[in-house]
Amino acid sequence: MADAAIYLRAGREKSVLTRHPWIFASAIDHIEGEPGHGDTVLVFDSNKKFLAKAAYSPSSQIRARVWTLIQADEIDRSFLEQRINASIERRAGLKESENTDALRLIYGEADGIPGLVVDQYASTLVMQLLSAGSEKFRSEIIEILAEQLKPEQIYERSDVEIRLLEGMQPREGLAWGKKKNHAIQISENGLKYLVDVTEGQKTGFYVDQRRNRQKVFELAKDKQVLNCFCYTGGFTLNALAGGATNVTSVDSSGPALEQLKQNVSLNGLDETKSEIIEGDVFTLLRKFRDQARSFDLIVLDPPKFAPTISQAEKASRAYKDINLLAIKLLKPGGLLVTFSCSGGVSRDLFQKIVAGAALDANTDLRIIDQLSQSPDHPVLTSFPESFYLKGLICQK
Ligand code: SAH
Repeated sequence: MADAAIYLRAGREKSVLTRHPWIFASAIDHIEGEPGHGDTVLVFDSNKKFLAKAAYSPSSQIRARVWTLIQADEIDRSFLEQRINASIERRAGLKESENTDALRLIYGEADGIPGLVVDQYASTLVMQLLSAGSEKFRSEIIEILAEQLKPEQIYERSDVEIRLLEGMQPREGLAWGKKKNHAIQISENGLKYLVDVTEGQKTGFYVDQRRNRQKVFELAKDKQVLNCFCYTGGFTLNALAGGATNVTSVDSSGPALEQLKQNVSLNGLDETKSEIIEGDVFTLLRKFRDQARSFDLIVLDPPKFAPTISQAEKASRAYKDINLLAIKLLKPGGLLVTFSCSGGVSRDLFQKIVAGAALDANTDLRIIDQLSQSPDHPVLTSFPESFYLKGLICQK
């Protein structure tokens, strides 16, 4: 059966020509054939000139995601195998240079496999299928990963809401191999972590913050540290190992804090220097202000307040709020390590928010370092959406 075809409206071919992988429903003039969920479709411009082959997603605003701009490419198992191998190949030597056995091996669109995320935690792989196209090739992807990487298990964490936008139900569970009950132990920059791939957030761990955790290790000596939105303690462990006087860690998730405690003892770090508070950061920062507590180094690593640009304004207020409060809690000369992982907030906007917070706190604030996502989360130049993690180290 011939592939179905979508024809774009005049002028709407531009994004495909600039190698952006998303084709929005509004760009489509008409469709020939009846492509099903995840089926490969041919994409033509309004003059019937071939543009791309893409995966069709009938109910999503992102109606198709480009697989290739080359007409001769067949989208099949061997195509997927090539793309997966190329992703792994691009990360050759990265485990050694990043000093870890936890790495993002496949980062969706940025690696030419729209909707597929694969994180490696030692001998475990955690997979997310986030688009109709990657879902279509689920069994091939699992086979290829098992063959190429010989993991002990492949665990699927496609239990995310965005699947609903793609017309798919969330899914979670063992996809391949033998289930391991205990949390997976990984190591990163000389520290060990337990990663709960079944219950943890995202795929279990925030590998994207690896280099930034190392920065905190380097800065923490003899400092009183406050780590807000600490999750399982990535920044906490680094601050303690880097010689912090003490570290106060705050998160609203009880299970994450339990894991943090285990991680502190797993590394033989001094538990008496680790204060753990379960609660809401917005409330707690106000309480600390009222108690006139102060710190030498504060980390703010909140969840995504603005997944898309439409939520940017509300998110800006939330970012400003916590940054303003944190700046006030800093001692003179103290350091603010502040992040935004919101795709809807640009680096420029984030810097403006922090500048506004300093202004309202009536203080000078100096940016001494600019941080980003670790290199296993590459930013594809034709897909700016792949850049999301922005960080600043500021001194009061
Ligand atoms: N810094 C962590 C990752 C942080 S993820 C690391 O390096 O591993 C964001 C965390 O914020 C999650 O653990 C989530 O439970 C927590 N969180 C979300 N909203 C919160 C709130 N209002 N107050 C406290 N914690 C919150």
